[in-house]
Amino acid sequence: MTVLVFVEPDDELSLQAVTLARSLDADVHGVCVESTQAPVDVLHVAEIEGSYAPAAWAAAIVQLAEELSPAAVVAPGSDRGNEVLAHVAARLDLPLAANVTEVRGDDVTRQRWGGTLLEEARLHAGLKLLTAAPFAFGVSDESTQTLVEPFVPQLTDADTAVRVVESVSASTGGVSLADAKVVVSGGRGVGSSDGFAILEELAALLDGAVGCSRVVTSAAWRPHTDQVGQTGTKVSPDLYIACGISGATHHIAGCKVVKKLLAINEDPEATIFSHADYAVIGDLHEIVPAITAELRKVRGA
Ligand SMILES: Cc1cc2nc3c(=O)[nH]c(=O)nc-3n(C[C@H](O)[C@H](O)[C@H](O)COP(=O)(O)OP(=O)(O)OC[C@H]3O[C@@H](n4cnc5c(N)ncnc54)[C@H](O)[C@@H]3O)c2cc1C
Repeated sequence: MTVLVFVEPDDELSLQAVTLARSLDADVHGVCVESTQAPVDVLHVAEIEGSYAPAAWAAAIVQLAEELSPAAVVAPGSDRGNEVLAHVAARLDLPLAANVTEVRGDDVTRQRWGGTLLEEARLHAGLKLLTAAPFAFGVSDESTQTLVEPFVPQLTDADTAVRVVESVSASTGGVSLADAKVVVSGGRGVGSSDGFAILEELAALLDGAVGCSRVVTSAAWRPHTDQVGQTGTKVSPDLYIACGISGATHHIAGCKVVKKLLAINEDPEATIFSHADYAVIGDLHEIVPAITAELRKVRGA
Protein backbone atom coordinates (compact mmCIF):
# COMPACT_ATOMS: atom_id res chain seq x y z
CA MET A 1 0.00 0.00 0.00
CA THR A 2 1.20 3.50 -0.83
CA VAL A 3 0.33 6.82 0.79
CA LEU A 4 1.17 10.09 -0.92
CA VAL A 5 2.01 13.09 1.26
CA PHE A 6 2.34 16.70 0.13
CA VAL A 7 5.38 18.34 1.73
CA GLU A 8 6.78 21.86 1.75
CA PRO A 9 10.34 22.96 2.60
CA ASP A 10 11.18 24.01 6.17
CA ASP A 11 7.67 23.27 7.33
CA GLU A 12 7.15 21.42 10.60
CA LEU A 13 3.48 20.81 9.75
CA SER A 14 4.60 18.91 6.62
CA LEU A 15 6.78 16.63 8.78
CA GLN A 16 3.77 16.07 11.07
CA ALA A 17 1.76 15.08 7.96
CA VAL A 18 4.49 12.54 7.14
CA THR A 19 4.04 11.08 10.65
CA LEU A 20 0.30 10.69 9.97
CA ALA A 21 1.10 9.03 6.63
CA ARG A 22 3.55 6.64 8.36
CA SER A 23 0.86 5.69 10.92
CA LEU A 24 -1.11 4.20 8.01
CA ASP A 25 1.45 1.37 7.65
CA ALA A 26 2.28 2.11 4.06
CA ASP A 27 5.13 3.03 1.74
CA VAL A 28 5.23 6.80 2.04
CA HIS A 29 5.78 8.80 -1.14
CA GLY A 30 6.24 12.55 -0.82
CA VAL A 31 5.26 15.11 -3.43
CA CYS A 32 6.66 18.63 -3.41
CA VAL A 33 7.19 21.53 -5.76
CA GLU A 34 10.31 23.00 -4.19
CA SER A 35 12.79 20.24 -3.44
CA THR A 36 13.13 19.51 0.28
CA GLN A 37 14.33 16.94 2.80
CA ALA A 38 11.58 14.74 4.19
CA PRO A 39 11.59 11.28 5.83
CA VAL A 40 9.74 9.60 2.93
CA ASP A 41 10.66 6.55 0.82
CA VAL A 42 10.33 8.32 -2.54
CA LEU A 43 10.12 12.07 -3.09
CA HIS A 44 8.43 13.19 -6.33
CA VAL A 45 9.48 16.72 -7.24
CA ALA A 46 6.95 18.41 -9.52
CA GLU A 47 8.71 20.74 -11.93
CA ILE A 48 6.37 23.73 -11.94
CA GLU A 49 7.81 27.14 -12.74
CA GLY A 50 6.91 30.26 -10.83
CA SER A 51 5.33 31.00 -7.51
CA TYR A 52 2.60 29.17 -5.56
CA ALA A 53 -0.39 28.33 -7.79
CA PRO A 54 -2.84 26.12 -5.85
CA ALA A 55 -4.65 24.67 -8.88
CA ALA A 56 -1.36 23.79 -10.61
CA TRP A 57 0.02 22.12 -7.48
CA ALA A 58 -3.23 20.19 -7.10
CA ALA A 59 -3.09 19.14 -10.77
CA ALA A 60 0.40 17.70 -10.15
CA ILE A 61 -0.82 15.76 -7.10
CA VAL A 62 -3.85 14.41 -8.99
CA GLN A 63 -1.65 13.22 -11.90
CA LEU A 64 0.73 11.50 -9.50
CA ALA A 65 -2.17 9.93 -7.58
CA GLU A 66 -3.56 8.53 -10.86
CA GLU A 67 -0.16 6.99 -11.55
CA LEU A 68 0.55 5.58 -8.06
CA SER A 69 -3.03 4.70 -6.97
CA PRO A 70 -2.31 5.49 -3.30
CA ALA A 71 -4.73 4.55 -0.53
CA ALA A 72 -4.57 8.12 0.81
CA VAL A 73 -3.25 11.57 0.00
CA VAL A 74 -2.17 13.45 3.12
CA ALA A 75 -1.28 17.16 3.44
CA PRO A 76 -0.21 19.38 6.33
CA GLY A 77 -2.96 21.21 8.21
CA SER A 78 -1.52 24.53 7.04
CA ASP A 79 -3.32 27.16 4.94
CA ARG A 80 -1.57 25.84 1.84
CA GLY A 81 -2.00 22.17 2.73
CA ASN A 82 -5.75 22.62 3.21
CA GLU A 83 -6.07 24.77 0.09
CA VAL A 84 -4.18 22.41 -2.22
CA LEU A 85 -6.02 19.35 -0.93
CA ALA A 86 -9.38 21.13 -1.32
CA HIS A 87 -8.47 21.62 -5.01
CA VAL A 88 -7.51 17.92 -5.24
CA ALA A 89 -10.86 16.95 -3.68
CA ALA A 90 -12.77 19.13 -6.15
CA ARG A 91 -10.89 17.72 -9.14
CA LEU A 92 -11.44 14.11 -8.05
CA ASP A 93 -14.96 14.74 -6.69
CA LEU A 94 -13.95 13.09 -3.40
CA PRO A 95 -14.58 14.03 0.25
CA LEU A 96 -11.76 15.68 2.22
CA ALA A 97 -11.29 15.19 5.96
CA ALA A 98 -9.38 18.23 7.25
CA ASN A 99 -7.56 18.52 10.59
CA VAL A 100 -7.45 14.79 11.28
CA THR A 101 -6.00 13.55 14.58
CA GLU A 102 -6.43 9.79 14.07
CA VAL A 103 -7.25 7.32 11.29
CA ARG A 104 -8.72 3.85 11.94
CA GLY A 105 -9.54 2.17 8.63
CA ASP A 106 -12.32 4.24 7.05
CA ASP A 107 -12.99 6.06 10.35
CA VAL A 108 -11.28 9.32 11.24
CA THR A 109 -11.25 11.63 14.24
CA ARG A 110 -10.90 15.25 13.27
CA GLN A 111 -10.88 18.63 14.93
CA ARG A 112 -13.77 21.02 14.29
CA TRP A 113 -14.45 24.56 15.47
CA GLY A 114 -10.82 25.47 15.96
CA GLY A 115 -10.11 22.28 17.91
CA THR A 116 -12.84 22.80 20.50
CA LEU A 117 -14.76 19.76 19.19
CA LEU A 118 -13.60 16.30 18.08
CA GLU A 119 -15.71 14.73 15.36
CA GLU A 120 -15.84 11.01 14.54
CA ALA A 121 -16.44 10.60 10.80
CA ARG A 122 -16.43 7.82 8.19
CA LEU A 123 -14.91 8.42 4.76
CA HIS A 124 -16.85 6.77 1.94
CA ALA A 125 -14.11 6.92 -0.68
CA GLY A 126 -11.60 4.58 -2.28
CA LEU A 127 -8.96 7.30 -1.99
CA LYS A 128 -8.81 9.08 1.37
CA LEU A 129 -7.92 12.77 1.34
CA LEU A 130 -6.67 13.93 4.75
CA THR A 131 -4.94 16.92 6.29
CA ALA A 132 -3.14 16.45 9.62
CA ALA A 133 -4.35 18.62 12.50
CA PRO A 134 -1.48 20.96 13.47
CA PHE A 135 0.55 19.60 16.40
CA ALA A 136 -1.57 16.44 16.76
CA PHE A 137 1.43 14.45 15.46
CA GLY A 138 5.09 14.46 16.35
CA VAL A 139 8.03 14.67 13.98
CA SER A 140 10.17 11.59 13.38
CA ASP A 141 13.93 12.03 13.67
CA GLU A 142 14.59 8.71 11.86
CA SER A 143 16.77 9.13 8.82
CA THR A 144 15.40 7.60 5.64
CA GLN A 145 17.06 6.81 2.33
CA THR A 146 14.92 8.86 0.01
CA LEU A 147 14.76 8.24 -3.71
CA VAL A 148 14.19 11.56 -5.49
CA GLU A 149 12.16 11.44 -8.73
CA PRO A 150 11.43 14.68 -10.61
CA PHE A 151 8.37 14.77 -12.86
CA VAL A 152 6.76 17.31 -15.16
CA PRO A 153 2.98 17.62 -14.67
CA GLN A 154 0.76 18.49 -17.63
CA LEU A 155 -0.73 21.91 -16.87
CA THR A 156 -3.24 24.11 -18.66
CA ASP A 157 -3.35 27.93 -18.61
CA ALA A 158 -6.32 27.67 -16.23
CA ASP A 159 -4.13 25.83 -13.68
CA THR A 160 -1.85 28.85 -13.36
CA ALA A 161 -4.50 31.56 -13.64
CA VAL A 162 -4.36 32.09 -9.88
CA ARG A 163 -0.91 32.38 -8.38
CA VAL A 164 0.90 34.39 -5.72
CA VAL A 165 2.38 37.52 -7.31
CA GLU A 166 3.91 39.11 -4.21
CA SER A 167 4.54 38.17 -0.59
CA VAL A 168 4.98 40.92 1.97
CA SER A 169 6.50 39.80 5.23
CA ALA A 170 4.76 41.05 8.35
CA SER A 171 7.85 40.27 10.38
CA THR A 172 9.40 43.16 12.25
CA GLY A 173 12.71 41.36 12.29
CA GLY A 174 12.15 39.46 15.55
CA VAL A 175 11.14 35.86 16.08
CA SER A 176 7.83 34.96 14.41
CA LEU A 177 4.73 34.25 16.48
CA ALA A 178 4.29 30.74 15.06
CA ASP A 179 7.92 29.74 15.80
CA ALA A 180 8.50 31.55 19.09
CA LYS A 181 9.46 29.49 22.14
CA VAL A 182 7.94 32.17 24.38
CA VAL A 183 4.85 34.23 23.54
CA VAL A 184 3.81 37.18 25.70
CA SER A 185 0.21 37.83 24.75
CA GLY A 186 -2.07 40.68 25.71
CA GLY A 187 -5.83 41.14 25.78
CA ARG A 188 -8.31 43.90 26.52
CA GLY A 189 -6.79 44.23 29.99
CA VAL A 190 -3.65 45.79 28.47
CA GLY A 191 -5.83 48.84 27.86
CA SER A 192 -4.22 50.48 24.82
CA SER A 193 -1.70 50.18 22.03
CA ASP A 194 0.91 51.92 24.21
CA GLY A 195 0.17 49.46 27.01
CA PHE A 196 1.91 46.76 24.96
CA ALA A 197 5.32 48.37 25.57
CA ILE A 198 5.75 46.41 28.81
CA LEU A 199 4.80 43.15 27.03
CA GLU A 200 7.28 43.90 24.23
CA GLU A 201 10.02 44.54 26.78
CA LEU A 202 9.37 41.20 28.51
CA ALA A 203 9.12 39.33 25.18
CA ALA A 204 12.43 40.81 24.00
CA LEU A 205 14.12 39.75 27.24
CA LEU A 206 12.88 36.18 26.73
CA ASP A 207 13.67 36.11 22.95
CA GLY A 208 9.96 35.72 22.44
CA ALA A 209 7.18 37.21 20.35
CA VAL A 210 4.18 39.34 21.27
CA GLY A 211 0.69 37.99 20.63
CA CYS A 212 -2.78 39.28 21.39
CA SER A 213 -6.50 38.56 21.49
CA ARG A 214 -9.06 39.56 18.86
CA VAL A 215 -10.39 42.39 21.00
CA VAL A 216 -6.93 43.93 20.63
CA THR A 217 -6.77 43.58 16.84
CA SER A 218 -10.38 44.81 16.51
CA ALA A 219 -9.38 47.91 18.48
CA ALA A 220 -6.37 48.29 16.13
CA TRP A 221 -3.93 48.23 19.06
CA ARG A 222 -1.95 45.51 17.23
CA PRO A 223 -1.96 44.14 13.64
CA HIS A 224 -4.01 41.05 12.80
CA THR A 225 -0.78 39.09 12.27
CA ASP A 226 -0.30 39.20 16.07
CA GLN A 227 -3.69 37.63 16.82
CA VAL A 228 -3.72 34.23 18.49
CA GLY A 229 -6.82 32.07 18.21
CA GLN A 230 -9.32 30.37 16.00
CA THR A 231 -9.19 33.17 13.43
CA GLY A 232 -5.58 34.05 14.15
CA THR A 233 -2.29 32.20 14.48
CA LYS A 234 -2.07 28.84 16.28
CA VAL A 235 0.97 28.91 18.55
CA SER A 236 2.87 26.11 20.32
CA PRO A 237 5.56 27.78 22.47
CA ASP A 238 7.20 26.32 25.55
CA LEU A 239 5.71 29.21 27.53
CA TYR A 240 2.61 31.31 26.81
CA ILE A 241 2.11 34.32 29.07
CA ALA A 242 -1.51 35.51 28.81
CA CYS A 243 -1.88 39.03 30.19
CA GLY A 244 -5.37 40.49 30.65
CA ILE A 245 -6.95 37.78 28.46
CA SER A 246 -10.21 36.23 29.68
CA GLY A 247 -9.69 32.82 28.01
CA ALA A 248 -12.58 32.71 25.51
CA THR A 249 -12.89 29.45 23.56
CA HIS A 250 -11.94 31.25 20.33
CA HIS A 251 -8.68 32.43 21.89
CA ILE A 252 -7.83 29.10 23.55
CA ALA A 253 -8.23 27.40 20.12
CA GLY A 254 -4.98 29.12 19.16
CA CYS A 255 -2.94 28.25 22.25
CA LYS A 256 -4.27 24.92 23.49
CA VAL A 257 -1.07 22.99 22.69
CA VAL A 258 1.31 25.36 24.49
CA LYS A 259 3.58 23.51 26.93
CA LYS A 260 3.09 25.87 29.90
CA LEU A 261 0.62 28.70 30.30
CA LEU A 262 1.12 31.53 32.78
CA ALA A 263 -2.04 33.62 33.19
CA ILE A 264 -2.04 37.11 34.66
CA ASN A 265 -5.52 38.45 35.33
CA GLU A 266 -7.11 40.60 37.99
CA ASP A 267 -10.31 38.52 38.00
CA PRO A 268 -9.85 35.32 40.06
CA GLU A 269 -12.87 33.83 38.24
CA ALA A 270 -11.39 34.37 34.74
CA THR A 271 -11.72 31.27 32.51
CA ILE A 272 -8.08 31.53 31.48
CA PHE A 273 -7.09 30.21 34.92
CA SER A 274 -8.74 26.85 34.16
CA HIS A 275 -6.20 26.43 31.30
CA ALA A 276 -3.23 27.80 33.23
CA ASP A 277 -0.24 25.98 34.73
CA TYR A 278 0.66 29.12 36.70
CA ALA A 279 -1.70 31.86 37.82
CA VAL A 280 -1.01 35.38 39.03
CA ILE A 281 -4.09 37.29 40.20
CA GLY A 282 -3.51 41.00 39.94
CA ASP A 283 -2.98 44.03 37.73
CA LEU A 284 -0.80 43.16 34.73
CA HIS A 285 0.53 46.74 34.69
CA GLU A 286 2.27 45.97 37.98
CA ILE A 287 3.03 42.28 37.49
CA VAL A 288 4.60 42.33 34.00
CA PRO A 289 7.17 45.05 34.87
CA ALA A 290 7.88 43.22 38.15
CA ILE A 291 8.68 39.98 36.22
CA THR A 292 10.88 41.94 33.81
CA ALA A 293 12.73 43.64 36.67
CA GLU A 294 13.26 40.30 38.44
CA LEU A 295 14.56 38.68 35.24
CA ARG A 296 17.01 41.54 34.75
CA LYS A 297 18.17 41.19 38.35
CA VAL A 298 18.68 37.40 38.02
CA ARG A 299 20.58 37.86 34.76
CA GLY A 300 22.56 40.78 36.10
CA ALA A 301 21.38 42.85 33.08
C1 LIG B 1 -16.13 33.55 15.11
C2 LIG B 1 -15.26 34.15 16.16
C3 LIG B 1 -13.88 34.01 16.06
C4 LIG B 1 -13.04 34.55 17.03
N1 LIG B 1 -11.68 34.38 16.92
C5 LIG B 1 -10.89 34.84 17.90
C6 LIG B 1 -9.47 34.64 17.85
O1 LIG B 1 -8.92 34.09 16.90
N2 LIG B 1 -8.73 35.08 18.89
C7 LIG B 1 -9.27 35.71 19.97
O2 LIG B 1 -8.53 36.09 20.89
N3 LIG B 1 -10.60 35.93 20.03
C8 LIG B 1 -11.41 35.53 19.02
N4 LIG B 1 -12.74 35.79 19.09
C9 LIG B 1 -13.24 36.66 20.19
C10 LIG B 1 -13.38 35.92 21.50
O3 LIG B 1 -14.63 35.26 21.54
C11 LIG B 1 -13.27 36.88 22.69
O4 LIG B 1 -14.21 37.93 22.53
C12 LIG B 1 -11.88 37.49 22.85
O5 LIG B 1 -10.88 36.49 22.81
C13 LIG B 1 -11.79 38.24 24.19
O6 LIG B 1 -10.59 38.95 24.22
P1 LIG B 1 -9.95 39.37 25.62
O7 LIG B 1 -9.72 38.14 26.44
O8 LIG B 1 -8.78 40.23 25.30
O9 LIG B 1 -11.05 40.34 26.22
P2 LIG B 1 -12.06 40.11 27.41
O10 LIG B 1 -12.85 38.89 27.24
O11 LIG B 1 -12.80 41.40 27.57
O12 LIG B 1 -11.12 39.89 28.68
C14 LIG B 1 -10.28 40.86 29.23
C15 LIG B 1 -9.68 40.27 30.49
O13 LIG B 1 -8.72 41.18 31.00
C16 LIG B 1 -8.81 41.15 32.42
N5 LIG B 1 -8.23 42.43 32.87
C17 LIG B 1 -8.73 43.68 32.69
N6 LIG B 1 -7.87 44.61 33.18
C18 LIG B 1 -6.81 43.92 33.68
C19 LIG B 1 -5.60 44.31 34.32
N7 LIG B 1 -5.28 45.62 34.50
N8 LIG B 1 -4.74 43.33 34.72
C20 LIG B 1 -5.05 42.01 34.54
N9 LIG B 1 -6.17 41.60 33.93
C21 LIG B 1 -7.04 42.54 33.50
C22 LIG B 1 -10.27 40.99 32.71
O14 LIG B 1 -10.46 40.44 34.01
C23 LIG B 1 -10.70 40.03 31.61
O15 LIG B 1 -10.59 38.67 32.03
C24 LIG B 1 -13.59 35.26 18.13
C25 LIG B 1 -14.98 35.41 18.22
C26 LIG B 1 -15.79 34.88 17.25
C27 LIG B 1 -17.29 35.05 17.37
